[in-house]
Amino acid sequence: MLLLRYLKNKFLNAELNGKVFYILVLSGFLFSVINTIINIILNLSIITVFSAMGTALLCLILIIYAFKTNEYKKASKFGFIILIALIYPSLWIHNNGIKGSIPYFIIFNTILLTIICNKKTAHQLYVLQILVLFILGYIEIYHRSWIIGYSSNLANILDMLFSFVLMGSFSVLIIKKLMIEYHLRIDELNELQAKFKHLSITDELTGIFNRRHIIQEIDNKLKDDVNPPFALIMIDIDDFKVINDRFGHGIGDEVIVGVSKALEHCVRPIDVVGRIGGEEFLIILMDTTEEEARSRALSMKNKISELKWSVDNLQVTVSGGVCGKMPEDELNDLLERVDRYLYKAKRSGKNTIM
Ligand code: GH3
Ligand code: MG
Ligand code: MG
Repeated sequence: MLLLRYLKNKFLNAELNGKVFYILVLSGFLFSVINTIINIILNLSIITVFSAMGTALLCLILIIYAFKTNEYKKASKFGFIILIALIYPSLWIHNNGIKGSIPYFIIFNTILLTIICNKKTAHQLYVLQILVLFILGYIEIYHRSWIIGYSSNLANILDMLFSFVLMGSFSVLIIKKLMIEYHLRIDELNELQAKFKHLSITDELTGIFNRRHIIQEIDNKLKDDVNPPFALIMIDIDDFKVINDRFGHGIGDEVIVGVSKALEHCVRPIDVVGRIGGEEFLIILMDTTEEEARSRALSMKNKISELKWSVDNLQVTVSGGVCGKMPEDELNDLLERVDRYLYKAKRSGKNTIM
């Protein structure tokens, strides 16, 4: 029981190529054991029986080696070399050559070696395999008498049928496993992509949009063919440095977050609120004239001045600049104008909207 759990954990923690390797050697082991028994029952040549037994032994050694060292790549390379150079030719010659079941086996293993091995090893193994197949093909054409057929027609049919079903089932099993892993990876990637997208447009402290996103939004609106009317409000917390100095950075952060929440509550879902600097915010009001935006900014300013904080004696006020989009405005014209109005509001004594 403990051994089974250990093996299961090893398998689950392996990378994808490793999992295919373990499926291959485990199924290869089972297949070879069953094949050995069938070969004995079908009374096939002693070499065929020994080849099947040899394959079973090889798989067993590879499983133990890979589990002990985690070097399944080395194990698979060694396993495939033995398979291609020794076991294929022996089985081919003693199992009716091209008319037997071994070609199925070779195709199946070639697909697996492509999945398991790295590019360089796979290329070396292809070359070895082509060489071996070339020799076997030569024997098929010029020395067919060297190839040993089945003991009976029934043995031939049974061996072909058994190999066909077995290779088919394992192919389905491996492809299924690969597809599950593939979809898992795709889901993970999509999730990561969504997370990165969210991070790239969000301000870390407040959770509202960051400078990059809100500027991009204004630019998009300006480039929009429909050319919708909109207005901008730039809000800056008054004497924020004093708040930080008097109450500490923690309370400063609380104020930034509180103001951002209040601003979010004051806008409609189609509007956009972002933090563009330490204690500065920019709001895009869609389908809004400058006059309407001014009254919305005033109500934001009043709401913020009424907010309660976790320390007594703290009253937070903001100043704001407002401007509506004009027909020929470019991004910088708008940003400069709204910034100028904010500066004017500060110059005129703060806690006011211009
Ligand atoms: P004014 O009324 O003219 O806007 O003055 P002010 O003090 O609000 O503006 P000033 O630009 O002089 O100071 C802004 C301060 O905001 C300086 C900086 O240390 C602080 N600040 C910037 N980002 C953060 C932040 O994320 N958290 C906190 N707590 N403080 C920040
Ligand atoms: Mg300020
Ligand atoms: Mg500022």
